Amino acid sequence: MLHFSDLNVTDQTVLIREDFNVPMQNGHISNEARLVAALPTLKMAIEKGAKVIVLSHLGRPEEGHFDPQFSLEPVAKRLSELLQFPVRLEKEWLDKPLNPSRSEIILCENTRFCVGEKKNQDGLSKRMAALGSVFVMDAFAVAHRAESSTVGIAHYVRTACAGPLLIKELEALSKVLENPVSPVVAIVGGSKVSTKIGLLEKLLEKVDILVLGGGIANTFLASQGFNMGASLMERDWIHQAADLFLRATQKGKKIWLPQDARVATKFDAGEKARVCSLSDIQSNEQMLDIGPKSEDDLKTLIAQAGTILWNGPLGVFEFPEFSHGTEVLAQSIAASSAYSVAGGGDTVSAIEQFGVETGISYVSTGGGAFLELLEGKTLPGIAVL
Ligand code: AMP
Repeated sequence: MLHFSDLNVTDQTVLIREDFNVPMQNGHISNEARLVAALPTLKMAIEKGAKVIVLSHLGRPEEGHFDPQFSLEPVAKRLSELLQFPVRLEKEWLDKPLNPSRSEIILCENTRFCVGEKKNQDGLSKRMAALGSVFVMDAFAVAHRAESSTVGIAHYVRTACAGPLLIKELEALSKVLENPVSPVVAIVGGSKVSTKIGLLEKLLEKVDILVLGGGIANTFLASQGFNMGASLMERDWIHQAADLFLRATQKGKKIWLPQDARVATKFDAGEKARVCSLSDIQSNEQMLDIGPKSEDDLKTLIAQAGTILWNGPLGVFEFPEFSHGTEVLAQSIAASSAYSVAGGGDTVSAIEQFGVETGISYVSTGGGAFLELLEGKTLPGIAVL
């Protein structure tokens, strides 16, 4: 894989694919982490004396139609402020000379307005590739999608290479998965076993301790015979959870499950939490967070870890009464001296909510891509390089 940092691109037109798919509220960017993460790449391109054209998608608009709510206009404005360098949004960017120069960055309007983008249509990929001579794939967060601007384009440019952000993401994950400092602790929370079973299987091969939380832990607790009342769980997956638990024990690995709970009778932000033991969950109650004993145990476990990987909240962290477990986890990871990597949409929101960004060694910009890479899947946007 060629690295952009190694190339001489003075006066050449480089096409940089970033993932500026940022959350928007009323036309304003509500979280700019993905913009900030791309700044070093853009600065590098400017410093190398390249003429820079940037491509990105935003949301899921209907192809072939301009829809202002999916315009990259706010991104162009904010990027220009962050870089202190002119960034011009180009609405009509296919099939016309863009005349890029070294004195500005051209940000092409949402790639997903183009017909054929999502299907990686050859014709579109060629037209995109014709805009420049060097393609820099830097959009790790969308590297699991084979689209024209992530994969097809790479076939038709003179040179395709990996950008610094993409490399940084891959290095962070390989530090966790290849020769990590032990004990390696992975924490997987969130709602469903079914969506993360591939991840759980893979992690069990790699880690020493697998900590489970959220709805995933509920299903595992049910598989261990606990009555989980009205808690979120997947009855169809209880058998598989029991099997995974058994295999982990046979391999000498540990699956950590909560020992106590915070429960409520309604799934509501205003509900008060009742702390109880696992054997005391009533049939009308839902376990929405781990309890204080579990928190204490987790603190000790995290403090002893050599490497930490985290994806998914331990409870309904969006509700104040049920955010405690996830907060304790976030703070314990931040306080630990272990190398730590976290990723996934809700995980990143939780990290920001509890203000622990600086304590985590690496926070990935990827959600789906982060999980697929951990599962050992080949990401098309990386394979093509
Ligand atoms: P996921 O998208 O699978 O990572 O799940 C994240 C969501 O799971 C968050 O919105 C949490 O509120 C939710 N969640 C976590 N724990 C629980 C729980 N015990 N019961 C219901 N929802 C939960």
